Amino acid sequence: MKRTEKKSELSWREAAKLNVRAFRLLFHRYPQMILSRLFYVVWTALSPYVGIYLAARVVDELAGERQADRLLLLVGLTLGAAALISLVTALLSKWKEAQAAGLPYKVDHIFAEKLFSMDYIDLDKAETGELLSTIRQNQNGGGWGLYRVVSRVEELISALFTVLGGIALTVTLFSSRVPESAGGYAVLNHPLFVVLLIAVMLAITFLSPALSNLSGSFWAKHADAHRFGNRLFGFFGLLGHNKELAPDVRMYRQDLICERYNTHKEDTFCSAGLFARYTRGRGGLLLAASAAVSVVFTGLVYAFVCLKAWAGAFGVGAVTQYVASVSKVADGVSGFFGVLGDMRNNAVFLRQIFAFLDIPNEMYQGSLTTEKRSDGQYEIEFKDVSFRYPGSEAYALRHVNLKFQVGKRLAVVGRNGSGKTTFIKLLCRLYDPTEGEILLNGIDIRKYNYLDYMSVFSVVFQDFKLFSLKLGENVAGAVRYDEEKVKSCLVKAGFGDRLASLPDGLDTYLYQDCDKRGISVSGGEAQKIAIARALCHDAPFIILDEPTAALDAIAEAEIYSKFDEIVGDKTAIYISHRLSSCKFCDEILVFDGGEAVQHGTHAQLVADEAGLYYALWNAQAQYYTE
Ligand code: ADP
Repeated sequence: MKRTEKKSELSWREAAKLNVRAFRLLFHRYPQMILSRLFYVVWTALSPYVGIYLAARVVDELAGERQADRLLLLVGLTLGAAALISLVTALLSKWKEAQAAGLPYKVDHIFAEKLFSMDYIDLDKAETGELLSTIRQNQNGGGWGLYRVVSRVEELISALFTVLGGIALTVTLFSSRVPESAGGYAVLNHPLFVVLLIAVMLAITFLSPALSNLSGSFWAKHADAHRFGNRLFGFFGLLGHNKELAPDVRMYRQDLICERYNTHKEDTFCSAGLFARYTRGRGGLLLAASAAVSVVFTGLVYAFVCLKAWAGAFGVGAVTQYVASVSKVADGVSGFFGVLGDMRNNAVFLRQIFAFLDIPNEMYQGSLTTEKRSDGQYEIEFKDVSFRYPGSEAYALRHVNLKFQVGKRLAVVGRNGSGKTTFIKLLCRLYDPTEGEILLNGIDIRKYNYLDYMSVFSVVFQDFKLFSLKLGENVAGAVRYDEEKVKSCLVKAGFGDRLASLPDGLDTYLYQDCDKRGISVSGGEAQKIAIARALCHDAPFIILDEPTAALDAIAEAEIYSKFDEIVGDKTAIYISHRLSSCKFCDEILVFDGGEAVQHGTHAQLVADEAGLYYALWNAQAQYYTE
């Protein structure tokens, strides 16, 4: 509720600033797109006046001297102008359409870039996801946001030029005088009529959009309910399409929950919902009134123009010109203010967008390079590292001290939630330690250039994702790549046989999102592809987070037996809660409750009967013995 009040407090000044900023942002990125639209609207705002003017001259000629050659010339001019206008309109429209291609994606690109460039810590925050999803829902549901700025500026400029063009063709309405011989009609020459017409026009101009904005402001005021409705729709509307959910939906009859939302008519988006009731009632009435008041003005204009013509101030042709032009001026003026009102409503949504785009990058960015060392000598050290996730009181890691060198195989073991993944996330600098420091070759990792530092690691995260692109592209992380290298990585990761069976080889699409001939892969196969991707990245450190979790026992054994071949001379960090997979590692680090409680070789740790490793090993031993 508090949020809603704040929203409606947005001043005109603030709204203008937000709109200008949004427009500049779009213009800076897509100047051709904006220019094509502006040229188009200026042209389409002004060109009707050519027809109005020439038609008036034709009517004048018909009602006046009726000279055939003049009529012919005028008709020829009218036709020629109409043809030229159509041609230029078509050309401008083509330009505009070509530039507008994928406009929603262009806007989305701005968000995507921000997501890629923001600190991971912010990306991971629930508020960031919430904010972006709110922005997207407002955009998709009500059309609010950046995209709207383009269309509203277009309308604003169109209205402005419509008014200017109309005024140019209306000046003579007031300057043409009723002859004194017309008696009482001469009163129409009084300047008060000009003032009166303008006053009525302005009154209606403000009243009409004010009524329509009053109707529209309801949506901004109830954005939260609107968003909720959209969310429900987004969730339930797509429930039937979601293959992954389908088994659960059927098993637990979740479609019935969906039905409940569908049949409770008082819910936000149903026919008895808040918005439907409003549109049928007050909102609809306000919109109807907004449309009706402008007719009053049209009536007055007709009366004034016709009386002046009747009294002899101008010919019958001018009547059509004035009536058409004044109506257009009135439309333009009301359009202008209407658009301003809408831009103000939209500014509330722009503010959210800039709140997202302005999330600062606070992670310190060093400039040192990690210099791809030819000797491959890298040493990582954790010095008394502790870490709490943002917004969390509890430490996920506490006082971790560790040193290890390139070429070694380090296993990180421990129960679920003991801090293993957090350890890796800190190592890859997705987060910075809350206390302590991590050193690479003796230098705090914050001092390295971030992208450069990241290139030292290849990670297969536990919840890794593959893209619905070609297999080769997935592994190489690029569109153009060295096929032999990609193949050898896939073979090393154990995907060789499946690869050989694929008719399109590396060009086979994964999943069916992009190509219906795309293949489905099992969890284990996906993991092999992810391992191949990590190998292909060719970083000195390779980190496998629960690498065999999705593999069956045979596939797991296969990976272990080939582990040395897979990682070669790289430093491998291997996270697992299956202790059998750690035996062959040089060092084992045991985590418990965020602390590194033991560190040593398998032989050393298994001999320490008081240690956690011993307990875990024996608890799991039943799975490893024949
Ligand atoms: P493991 O990999 O050993 O299963 P994690 O490193 O994932 O353990 O988790 C360590 C602790 O940090 C757990 O208590 C977990 O709940 C917490 N944690 C993990 N990720 C987050 C997060 N993004 N925000 C807050 N707490 C988290």
